[in-house]
Amino acid sequence: VVNNDAAAGDVADELLGGLLAAGVDRRTCRSLYELWRYYKHFPYRPSLHLLRSLRAYEARHRRCAPGTPLYAKAVEQLKSGHGGAAAMEEECRYVVWLPFDGLGNRMLSMASGFLYALLTGRVFLVALQPDSGDLFCEPFPNTTWLFPSQDYPVDNLPWLGQSPNVSLTAFLAANKTIDDAAYVYLSLGWQMTDGPFFCGEHQAVLGKVSWLFMFSDLYFVPSLYPIAEFRDELRRLFPAAMESISHLLLRYLLHPTNPVWDMVTAYYASNLAYADKRIGIQIRMFDFASVPADDLYNQILSCSRQENILPETDGDEVAAAGNSTTAIFIASLYADYYERLKTRYQAAAGSSSKVGVFQRTHEEQQATEKLEHNQRALAEIFLLSLSEEMVTSGMSTFGYVSSSIAGIRPAILLPAHDHMVPAPPCRRAVSMEPCNLTPPRGVTCSRGMAVDGEDVARHLKVCEDRQQGVKLF
Ligand code: GDP
Repeated sequence: VVNNDAAAGDVADELLGGLLAAGVDRRTCRSLYELWRYYKHFPYRPSLHLLRSLRAYEARHRRCAPGTPLYAKAVEQLKSGHGGAAAMEEECRYVVWLPFDGLGNRMLSMASGFLYALLTGRVFLVALQPDSGDLFCEPFPNTTWLFPSQDYPVDNLPWLGQSPNVSLTAFLAANKTIDDAAYVYLSLGWQMTDGPFFCGEHQAVLGKVSWLFMFSDLYFVPSLYPIAEFRDELRRLFPAAMESISHLLLRYLLHPTNPVWDMVTAYYASNLAYADKRIGIQIRMFDFASVPADDLYNQILSCSRQENILPETDGDEVAAAGNSTTAIFIASLYADYYERLKTRYQAAAGSSSKVGVFQRTHEEQQATEKLEHNQRALAEIFLLSLSEEMVTSGMSTFGYVSSSIAGIRPAILLPAHDHMVPAPPCRRAVSMEPCNLTPPRGVTCSRGMAVDGEDVARHLKVCEDRQQGVKLF
């Protein structure tokens, strides 16, 4: 049984107010046509300009995708090293997205890469590895977004070498000209972020390059905003609110394939559907911010009290309003917090009929190289996104992506920096946008950065959970 409250909103139709393109085969991607009945929030209607841009994008994608004559021509030009293709209007230009890191990182950087393609008139292709072969449906009707790696005409595959020596920064430093292909590294971890990518003058150069290979695990949209031309278009595409960017893009782009969707719907039907309210709790523990389990458990409870999220237990009773029922869905690699919360509500007399606590898996370890592991992780991201309310873990892209899809501003548990229990325990997110955890630092741009600093300040903020990060709101 599906909660039909969602049908109240005016974008609550099968195609989400025109956001989704008609014409994707129902049987090959059931989630695309069914998710609208499960979502609880529809905070933003897509603008007409966004709808027009998406339809134009889809037409371009069909014209330029692998298998078309224009694609063959572009590959040929890349092989022969005779660029300049983009100068001619009928030619196609591409962003090839190269994956690494966990699923949350990947989903957010895919959304960023797709938006970049939308903003720059490119075609977005993904070089998916076998570990992600059966996770996401083809998002654009009657074409493919898969980059045929076997045809890949360039020897030094950047995802094998992870070689910053071919990065944009290295090219600029060596004063080399970029002709037909450029590599950019927009990365969160040990690697590097090609800071110059976020300068107007380098965007102008990159605009002429037919092939852009993008090696990224980052939600980099907040760093596109200060570039004047992108900012103006973002305002036209998302006039209601900047926080609708990731929410609408993720709902547009990423739909679980049938095996993952079956996991979601089966679990939802047997455990979550009955409740009047679903609360998603996502617990991610990072080594750099670990605290004893008792401390983290107390942090969750005090956050919940501060933000009024979980039903309180009043002595031995659950102090929930009336007869309403709550299902608490826990996503975590470990069983510990699930067991503690379950015990808490079982101990309160009469609570079992009012409050249920559920966890689908506890895998103990991240195993991103395994397709089945990623399918289960994706199922949990979507189960979280079907909540009415959420508590997520700071600095976790797994949490960011879930709350963005849900259309919720979650309570974000603050990371225990230096292993100190944080106070306050959490903060309510200012927007449903993910944090760009590592925006470029120390980059001086000569042109194309925002002229209107006030507007940037009005829409970009330091992240709740990371001093060095920035997010849109
Ligand atoms: P982040 O590291 O928290 O930013 O999130 P990522 O999704 O990028 O990487 C963490 C990976 O660990 C996930 O993709 C999963 O493979 C695994 N993982 C972490 N938390 C969970 C969870 O709650 N459930 C499941 N099934 N897997 C998880």
